[in-house]
Amino acid sequence: MSAVLVIRGGTLIDPANGVHGPHDLVISDGVVAQVLDPGAPAPAADVAETIDATGAWVVPGLIDMHVHLREPGYEYKETIETGSRAAVAGGFAAVACMANTNPVNDNAAVTEFIRERAAACGLTRVYPIGAVSRGLGGEQLAEIGEMHAAGIVGVSDDGMPIMDGGLMRRALEYAAMFDLPVIVHEQDDCIAGEGVMHEGSISMRLGLRGVPAAAEEAMIARDLALLARTGGRLHVAHISTAGAVDLIRHAKRRGLPVTAEVTPHHFTLTDESVDGYNTNAKMNPPLRTRADVDAVRAGIADGSIDVIATDHAPHHRDEKDVEFDRAANGIVGLETALPLTLRLLDETAIGIETLVRAMSTNPAHVLGVPGGSLGVGSPGDVTVIDPARRWVIDPARFLSRSRNTPFGGLTVRGVATHTIVGGRVVWRTMPEALSRSAAVRPGGAA
Ligand SMILES: [Zn+2]
Repeated sequence: MSAVLVIRGGTLIDPANGVHGPHDLVISDGVVAQVLDPGAPAPAADVAETIDATGAWVVPGLIDMHVHLREPGYEYKETIETGSRAAVAGGFAAVACMANTNPVNDNAAVTEFIRERAAACGLTRVYPIGAVSRGLGGEQLAEIGEMHAAGIVGVSDDGMPIMDGGLMRRALEYAAMFDLPVIVHEQDDCIAGEGVMHEGSISMRLGLRGVPAAAEEAMIARDLALLARTGGRLHVAHISTAGAVDLIRHAKRRGLPVTAEVTPHHFTLTDESVDGYNTNAKMNPPLRTRADVDAVRAGIADGSIDVIATDHAPHHRDEKDVEFDRAANGIVGLETALPLTLRLLDETAIGIETLVRAMSTNPAHVLGVPGGSLGVGSPGDVTVIDPARRWVIDPARFLSRSRNTPFGGLTVRGVATHTIVGGRVVWRTMPEALSRSAAVRPGGAA
């Protein structure tokens, strides 16, 4: 079987190489072999498949650097296989998965297990993120060197803020020896207290305890102060407040090696979504105010925020179908991130190149992994996007094992028609589904 794949007729958008225009793409032996002018003759080699991308955007495979795949330990919420299917259906050629599994990914054996399971699925690329601290206990450093040898691409206690500043300092120093980013969930638990949503007028009205914006901002300020002295690389996960964006913006101006991400829900929804005690609007960090949403959008626009990541957090129905105080935090995101992000094209002055950078080029750089580029010799990881297709988000159709989303019923536009990993089509929409609700299935033949 020949390995040559040709994608014809699309608009190539490759910010890493300054390309935005009509080009055909030739992928051979798993890598980008040629970028052709439209209609140029196909390569001499046998072409296994030609994808007609007329009217579509052809972009470097999307990379979601913040997901929870739940395996090992919580397979009733998600497995590496179901999470991988959700990822490719959402257009993601690669994901990085957080360490809060059971057992925790704080040693090489768990890292290897995740990599082997992901390879056996053969869908999206899966990059494990190791824990900062043993058992996410926040006391002793995990086996970062061993995990690095086993293939982790970063360290994080995500979900558990690192309250011990001394441990945080050592983590920055130690991870720097392996050039691993320290990915941080920034919340001062002492300030956050028992809060379950954003502290403001809505929490007051609903009678729910609030998490003030200062809980996030104080912790970011601490870690920026440490970073200025330790070196290393700090990546701030799921930024949610205007003050947090300002802190990152100023730190970058000072030349600090800090990057940041935001989730689609934090640039789409406000704390008003919690109304009615909607547990599908319960997140950590919580949904904030309209001013915060506007600030994180401005942060994406001016590059203060580098990355859009989902924080895909599958939970079983029983963990959300409870009173608000007791409900689990988080929502699934892999299958809704792309169309929610494309809404920014309509609602802001942000252009598509910025969004492709935030969903592919920049996460590749932060993690130090291949991809994020369609230059000749780059991995043959490509996402073909039909930007015009309108569809209705229907959680019942998710390929994720979980359904917890506040976006059910929302009409969106934009869908990944093909997800290609290493030159292999791992996802394609069915041609007959090119109408309203995209009926989608995993690509099988390729
Ligand atoms: Zn997370």
